[in-house]
Amino acid sequence: MSKIARRQFLQISAVAAAGAMLRPATEARAQDMPQLAEDDPMAMSMKYTHDASSVDPATRANPAPEQNCSNCALVQGADGDAWRPCQIFPGKVVNANGWCAVWAPKA
Ligand code: SF4
Repeated sequence: MSKIARRQFLQISAVAAAGAMLRPATEARAQDMPQLAEDDPMAMSMKYTHDASSVDPATRANPAPEQNCSNCALVQGADGDAWRPCQIFPGKVVNANGWCAVWAPKA
């Protein structure tokens, strides 16, 4: 694992762990949570976009053909909701049609 990939993995792991600890509170208030902005520094570092179709598939690390927040293992909340909490961005909701570089397939 390269130095940068390892650093990014550690950052993502720390954020995911923090998000997991906040899970009960964040799920309970999903409707009241602000939407993640694409120009949020954390969003930009994870290449988050509200529209997964705007992402060149060639730039994705994981080869799954369809990737968006609604089919990501890290999304929370209810299926069908347009905006949902995400373990990577605690305290904010992401667009169900969005995408970021941390996308992972559901088990
Ligand atoms: Fe969160 Fe997954 Fe969407 Fe990234 S792709 S913002 S990790 S739900």
